[in-house]
Amino acid sequence: MISLYDTLTGEVRPLTLREEGRVALYACGPTVYDHPHLGHARSALTYDVLRRYLEWRGLDVRHVANITDIDDNIINRARDEGSTESEVAVEWEAVYIDAMAALNVLDPHDRPRATEWVTEMVDFVARIMDAGVAYTTPTGVYLRVRDVPGYSDLVHRDLDDLRASAGARVEVDEAKEDPLDFALWKAAKPDEPSWPSPWGPGRPGWHIECVAMSLGILGDDFDIHGGGNDLVFPHHTNERAEALAVGRSFARHWVHNAMLNIEGTKMSKSLGNYRTVVEMLDEHPDNGRAFRLLVLQTHYRKTMEVNADLMASARAACQRLDALARRASVLNRPPESLGPRDLDESAVDAFNTAMDDDLGTPQAVAVIFETLRRANAALDRGADDAEVLAATVTNLAGALGVAVDAARRGADAGDAAIDDMVARRQAAREARDWATADALRDELSALGVVVEDTPAGPIWRRA
Ligand SMILES: [Zn+2]
Repeated sequence: MISLYDTLTGEVRPLTLREEGRVALYACGPTVYDHPHLGHARSALTYDVLRRYLEWRGLDVRHVANITDIDDNIINRARDEGSTESEVAVEWEAVYIDAMAALNVLDPHDRPRATEWVTEMVDFVARIMDAGVAYTTPTGVYLRVRDVPGYSDLVHRDLDDLRASAGARVEVDEAKEDPLDFALWKAAKPDEPSWPSPWGPGRPGWHIECVAMSLGILGDDFDIHGGGNDLVFPHHTNERAEALAVGRSFARHWVHNAMLNIEGTKMSKSLGNYRTVVEMLDEHPDNGRAFRLLVLQTHYRKTMEVNADLMASARAACQRLDALARRASVLNRPPESLGPRDLDESAVDAFNTAMDDDLGTPQAVAVIFETLRRANAALDRGADDAEVLAATVTNLAGALGVAVDAARRGADAGDAAIDDMVARRQAAREARDWATADALRDELSALGVVVEDTPAGPIWRRA
């Protein structure tokens, strides 16, 4: 049984699905006007891993992730560049999609864009107006939060407390009845894109986008709504209020991932210490995979740390996976040819137990590397279970989206040097120059590298 922490109930509880065997998952996507940063990557990876694991357990997942392609930041960028909002959004959406592909994040099944759903959003706002919980002002249409019972349940604060502390996170507007009331529809300002509505030309508020698209695509009572924990208030609180205001059943489970620190400091745009995904990927060809492993090594509800040492360790760990696959590649069957039922049962059970408990990825990764040690030991002994253990490692890593590649040579300079030493040793052996071959073997051994001679040629790994 799979359990997940539910932000609304504040506890880890079994995932109870609307429909047996099927999971409807909505995860909030980016506003596209700039480079995605590592926080975007962590969030996308969290829901990619959740989806992959649900699929690994045989569930049929429909994953929806939106693109916010109209908002103040996009309008400002278009103004600064002398381009249009749609040009800005198209350009940065492509950058985002490429960056996520480089992180091996699966494409969602649906990637709705806000500007393609404006009609549905206008209908939704009209229904909220009909329900009598919204009002108009010269600047737009606002939802009256005190008319929605349980408005602040997701954030576990009472209204007064929230009002006192919300400060900068709510829009200040004299015409609002309550500072917490929020825009469903924003009246058009000069030179801004707008759409017609019963309340005059304007554009949708941010929260109405996600509620219209999630319910529109997945239907009432969909299973999981996810996003970064910075979205709990106001974004998700307000989405939920909009659904409740018209009597719709919203998400059954709320999942939120934590933020990240760079070199010990909270990453933020205002502190200037934010890192883009492209910068991270440019630093090392294996950083996409290493970052995923680093994400997995921290539980999704805990703040994760990113620094150069941790990235280097994660790259080395990925190379150990490749090295095992290289070693095992001389065995009879390739790891991909073994299905879940052929794998090592105790490892798979331990992996599933860890993941079932609120996505315990740090423990699941530990299971993978413990199995890697067992596989290398079995290969050392020439034991029969080596093949199954090696295949188990590749398959469990794959279930978390960590691609293992026997053909991949570590891109570190250190690895190229080792490849070269192994090749020179092999040449010496072929020339029957045993003294040189032995000397190179000793040198490699001093570097912690074990070389194994197989019918397919020498294979090396880190001991
Ligand atoms: Zn959203």
